[in-house]
Amino acid sequence: MLDTVIIGAGPVGLACAIEIQRQGLTVAVVDKGALVNSIVGYPTQMEFFSTPELLEIGGYPFPMASYKPHREDALDYYQRVAAAEKLDLRLYERVTGLRGQAGDFVVETDQGELAARTVVVATGFFDVPNYMGVPGEALPHVNHYYKEPYAHAGRDVVVVGAKNSSAKAALALTRAGARVALVVRGSEVSESVKYWIRPDLLNRIKEGRIQAYFNTTIDAITPTTVEVTMPEGPRSLPATYVYALTGYRPDYALLLDALALPLDENDPARPPLFSPATHETARPGVYVAGTVCGGLATSRWFIENGRHHAQLIARALAGTVELAPR
Ligand SMILES: Cc1cc2nc3c(=O)[nH]c(=O)nc-3n(C[C@H](O)[C@H](O)[C@H](O)COP(=O)(O)OP(=O)(O)OC[C@H]3O[C@@H](n4cnc5c(N)ncnc54)[C@H](O)[C@@H]3O)c2cc1C
Repeated sequence: MLDTVIIGAGPVGLACAIEIQRQGLTVAVVDKGALVNSIVGYPTQMEFFSTPELLEIGGYPFPMASYKPHREDALDYYQRVAAAEKLDLRLYERVTGLRGQAGDFVVETDQGELAARTVVVATGFFDVPNYMGVPGEALPHVNHYYKEPYAHAGRDVVVVGAKNSSAKAALALTRAGARVALVVRGSEVSESVKYWIRPDLLNRIKEGRIQAYFNTTIDAITPTTVEVTMPEGPRSLPATYVYALTGYRPDYALLLDALALPLDENDPARPPLFSPATHETARPGVYVAGTVCGGLATSRWFIENGRHHAQLIARALAGTVELAPR
């Protein structure tokens, strides 16, 4: 029996594995996808907003010649750290359920079962998009994940949303030669867009290189258009491709049904109920770490601040697992 199974090999899951292992406990990390699967899914050459030292885990330096790391630097860094720590990684194995109680859990996966005394849930938020719920959203040219612009030169692309991801995608697509229409439900580009990206986007809108439609809602998507309602009335926007970058949410089916974690219903973001001192949830023996701790408030915890959950959990586990019979 393992002392701990960690669900999720993201930066925070890895940080937890390192700190728990350093307490002399046995740990396995299970991920339904690749190592740092969320970052694998980020746009090619995406620049992190954090400087490298704020993304470090396990005390390993993240040396960089430039000011901010790109996706590929982070992929390389986390892979090297995981290898240096000889972490027990079970990749491409999805957790589907959790039986038992503290000291005697069975983690159910699509490939079998793992016995563990404790469980850490570090499943992030990047797997379930915030769907718009409009007809045509499931068409093959509609994507909730943006990767790179080059397939769209000379084509009409509709980008939905006005936060960092949509701003960056709209700019990159425009520079790669796509005709971009940015559809925004609110009245302006979000104030939360990073201070070095927002003016760039506003200036491209002002000079007419990006057509922005504010106070506009999407009614339907067809194979060749996006049907919208703007303050002036309905309109049909041509679209060979649609990036609906409307954000993501934690997998509540996993949290509630598979893991049976009670939520904090007093918090509108509905995070799992957990002790801030130990990160133990209301299901004893199960801990939460990283972005999943914020529920729907997906920017409450990110790598910079979420990586510190690892020390809290490791300290708490060292106390409890010591007492358990081996
Ligand atoms: C475009 C973009 C840029 C960002 N830039 C920054 C930045 O500059 N600085 C910063 O601090 N943060 C940044 N963030 C946020 C940051 O990436 C996330 O907060 C971070 O990934 C959270 O780490 P995590 O380990 O909690 O979750 P994740 O990295 O999301 O890892 C969760 C893991 O759990 C796995 N998983 C989920 N369900 C299951 C299951 N049922 N079974 C097994 N495995 C499962 C997933 O495959 C995934 O690998 C950015 C986010 C985005 C989208």
